[in-house]
Amino acid sequence: MGVRTPIFFEWHWERLGNFKYVFAAPVVANAIHGFISGAKDVDNWCYHLLLLGALRCLCQQLWTTYSRLHCLVKKHQINACGIEFEQVDREFHSDNHMLLQLLLLLAAHSWIPGFSNLPMWNMRGLMILFLLHTGPVEFLYYWMHRAFHSEPLFQRYHSLHHLSVVTEPPTGSVTTMLEQVLQTGLIGLAMVVTVMLGGASISMIYIYLLTFDFLKCMGHCNCEFVPARVFQLFPAAKYLLYTPSYHSLHHTQLHYNFCLFMPLYDYLGGTVHPDTLPFYASLRKGKEEEVPDFVFLAHCIDVLTSLHVSFCIRTLAAHPFTPYWFIRLTWLPTLFCLFIFWTWAQTFVAYRYMLDNLNCVTWVIPRHGFQYFLPFYKDNINKHIEKAILNADTLGVKVISLAALNKNEELNGGGMLFVEKHKDLRVRVVHGNTLTAAVIIKQLPTNVKEVFMTGSTSKLGRAIALYLCRRGVRVLMLTKSKERFDKIVAEASHDVRHNLIRVTKFQAGQNCKTWLFGKWTLNADQQWAPPGTNFHQFVVPAVREIRKDCTYAPVAGMILPKQTIGIHTCEVMMPRRAVHACHAGGLVHALEGWKHHEVGAIDVDRIDVVWEAAMKHGFSSVT
Ligand SMILES: [Zn+2]
Ligand SMILES: [Zn+2]
Repeated sequence: MGVRTPIFFEWHWERLGNFKYVFAAPVVANAIHGFISGAKDVDNWCYHLLLLGALRCLCQQLWTTYSRLHCLVKKHQINACGIEFEQVDREFHSDNHMLLQLLLLLAAHSWIPGFSNLPMWNMRGLMILFLLHTGPVEFLYYWMHRAFHSEPLFQRYHSLHHLSVVTEPPTGSVTTMLEQVLQTGLIGLAMVVTVMLGGASISMIYIYLLTFDFLKCMGHCNCEFVPARVFQLFPAAKYLLYTPSYHSLHHTQLHYNFCLFMPLYDYLGGTVHPDTLPFYASLRKGKEEEVPDFVFLAHCIDVLTSLHVSFCIRTLAAHPFTPYWFIRLTWLPTLFCLFIFWTWAQTFVAYRYMLDNLNCVTWVIPRHGFQYFLPFYKDNINKHIEKAILNADTLGVKVISLAALNKNEELNGGGMLFVEKHKDLRVRVVHGNTLTAAVIIKQLPTNVKEVFMTGSTSKLGRAIALYLCRRGVRVLMLTKSKERFDKIVAEASHDVRHNLIRVTKFQAGQNCKTWLFGKWTLNADQQWAPPGTNFHQFVVPAVREIRKDCTYAPVAGMILPKQTIGIHTCEVMMPRRAVHACHAGGLVHALEGWKHHEVGAIDVDRIDVVWEAAMKHGFSSVT
């Protein structure tokens, strides 16, 4: 027999996914009807409800962005351990309370006398509301929360909120339906009594609900930002308002710090955790930034994928990037923001995670893909990369791995420029492409006899061609440059050189069923491949999948080992917990403690060595 879900545990509208917002339709319809017909409601109630809803979402988003901006929170972060994808998924419906309260406010306006014809402002009413909140609401919430920590209520209901030990602002609103109904009842009690005493106003609703959300998000933001001066100037403040560290102790020490926002009730109830003040003081003292062992130095790709960064929209970042319609709508404002970004931004931390004992971090250079192809940007970009490498060296980072175009041959010779300029670097500079080559080679069928390759004289093309020809595979290398082709042939031993064949037209691949794209390939050129062809690629961005009668291998990537923790962001279009193969290559370099720089041309002899090391550490190919 399955375990029965307790009554009022589940928000049934969550089963509808995003369609749950259909419950807000009466409010939207009323607002639109009023706008079109001019038949205005006396209070413009529905407009206010929609505006309030938007402001509440904005409040949660701004707090989330703040809590993920490493540069702002690093000194006073409470729990440095990153959250996981499961938590982002579990907290997806953190706006249930907003929808519930929107519907209740609509009902109150229609059916409860006193909830209509409200003035915009009433100071007396706000004072009454403040007294009602700090008195009965805080008192009742405290005892209700304590009750939810007793069995069986905790297991049946409240344990859901406590599944998140490392909190983020949306965590504060993740509760079962019963808890939220009771909490909303307390909010309603304060408002109804204020109405009865004759002091209600529209601003009362805005101020109360926004303050409520603001303080909930603050308590879960995982950064102790409240300065000690506040408590030095106003010693009584410790009874009146909690701080993020205060509530974070409730998530780690379950039987303490139960209050809603006012610790006074914990003091009166004897449930303040003894470490509350020392814990606060230690966090405010600030901590030295943890030195990463491994840095993946990425860059921005294009305008829309810029929104995929982890501190923007966390649900979006937790899925492989997809340019949804609502993302496309933001193209122009995003571009405007990027102009400011290009002028002012410095290399920033995108996200951190742990792999075995390696403290890993992704830094992002504030430059976009197209800028790498503008000759006048070349020096500027190299300066950013050089600065990041020297910074990593000073910090004591072990390995810095250059992503995508940061290791472009034309730009800096696959990182060679920096290694030659700074001979005494302690940090190892790695392009990671040896593992990329290995991943592509391992994708090929073991019995492959012939491959057709574009981009065949590029860094990866050369290495793959040389590796395959040693294995007796005929490589049809599409290239216009005889000189570059001859150079590669000269590297192969005499007995296998015949396997490298230069071709100059796509027609040459019309009988070959294994194609490798190392260059962006036009739709028309793909048509030369015979039906049933397997397309592999080492080109970014990936080629368009237009042939329905052929298969396309994904961009070379690797799934991180199981023991990796703190991953909650997808690497652009990679699946969850997967990274580009060059990123994995850098990690393997760091895990193995290899002392050489991996820059310039790929050492073909090391392709198998790097692959074996990746397998040993628990990486697996995305395919
Ligand atoms: Zn609790
Ligand atoms: Zn909480």
